[in-house]
Amino acid sequence: MKKKINKQLMLISSMAVVITVLLMATVFYHILQAQVIEDLRVYAYMLAQSGIPYGTETDQNRLNKDGMRITVIGADGSVLYESDADVTAMDNHLERPEVQEAIQNGEGQTVRRSSTMGMNTFYYTVLLDDGSVLRVARESHSIWSILYQSLPVFLVTLILLLIVCLVLSRYLTKSLVSPIEQMAADMDHIEEANVYEELVPFAETIKAQHEAILSNANMRQEFTANVSHELKTPLAAISGYSELIESGMASGQDAVRFASGIHQSANRLLTLINDTIRLSELDVMKQVEPFEEINLYELARDSVEMLQIRADEHGVILSMEGSPCTVRGDKQMLEELIYNLCDNAICYNNIGGSVSVNVGIEAGQTILRVRDTGIGIPKESQERIFERFYRVDKSRSKSTGGTGLGLAIVKHIVAVHDAHISLVSEVGRGTEITITFSNQNQSCAAL
Ligand code: ADP
Repeated sequence: MKKKINKQLMLISSMAVVITVLLMATVFYHILQAQVIEDLRVYAYMLAQSGIPYGTETDQNRLNKDGMRITVIGADGSVLYESDADVTAMDNHLERPEVQEAIQNGEGQTVRRSSTMGMNTFYYTVLLDDGSVLRVARESHSIWSILYQSLPVFLVTLILLLIVCLVLSRYLTKSLVSPIEQMAADMDHIEEANVYEELVPFAETIKAQHEAILSNANMRQEFTANVSHELKTPLAAISGYSELIESGMASGQDAVRFASGIHQSANRLLTLINDTIRLSELDVMKQVEPFEEINLYELARDSVEMLQIRADEHGVILSMEGSPCTVRGDKQMLEELIYNLCDNAICYNNIGGSVSVNVGIEAGQTILRVRDTGIGIPKESQERIFERFYRVDKSRSKSTGGTGLGLAIVKHIVAVHDAHISLVSEVGRGTEITITFSNQNQSCAAL
């Protein structure tokens, strides 16, 4: 950018100098030409009025002293008098344009290139009373000689100007570029830098992207650390149990117990890995299209049926209510969503507690609600339970096979479906999680 600005400034100033010099030379030449012609005209009329004193050496000297050349041409074109040359050697002048002009108009003028390099000869003619033509002539610089003469000044000016340009453009580009450099150097404090108004939207976009990249990188790093940490415990258990079996210390019932421990830990590893893979998949997935028409009621009913055994195991009563309702979505994802919510409601419940799933319409919007009479979630944790690996009670979550990723997956699925999640919970009384689907493409039968 700096180079480009420098180059363009130099080019513009060089062009300006060249154009100025050409214009000045032309204007100067025209003024000079007008001046010379005017001089000749005044001189010619003065001579014409005073009678032409030619013929004597003294007259000739007097006439020549102003650098003027005087010629008198007879009506037949023969040269009667010439101040600078021998009349007898001169040819007929009748056809000369300035003579012709004088004969026709009473006066005439012309400019011819001179035999001297870079000079022009200016002629002015006046028709005298006796029919002869008086011609005065003078040599003057041609436009090229003026240009040639002004060349040194022109070159010096150009060099000086280029030096000034170089210094100026350096200063200019520096002051132009420095806010951008300042901005690039410290992305975090763009608003403090003296950034150009036009660059503000651009800077803000970059800043937002920059922050998103940073937070993404942080999240990934944290996630990787958490995953590794979560994997360590079951792996350590597997390693410990298998070591005991290997050493022959475990026999009979012990061996069975250890093998069961290995089995449980391996299952835990599998669930953890599956959830991690699922989350990564959802992370890269921005929009799942095409969505299909899904009967949310049927889907919830099937999930509830599937979870009955699990509810029984926990001594929890699982029920379903509502009416057929359709939403546009991804079947597998919605299944996952219902499963995760119900599974939590069963696991974080008390023996004899209940879980009810409700699908229907509220305020014109399709909702899916999972309500339990379980242990509840403390106020301070209610925001955080959707974070990856966040658990209110680590040991309880682990004992029920929880990975801490279930609600993070739910949050993702809700976002993909352009839905909204809300939570009401009270410790010791229970939790109610409601998913509200947006109005688009939904239809429900009356309750
Ligand atoms: P986990 O695999 O541990 O269940 P989740 O992401 O599904 O992970 O849930 C995160 C945490 O939120 C759980 O560990 C639990 O402490 C709390 N939680 C989720 N659902 C409920 C609920 N229905 N009742 C009480 N606590 C819950």
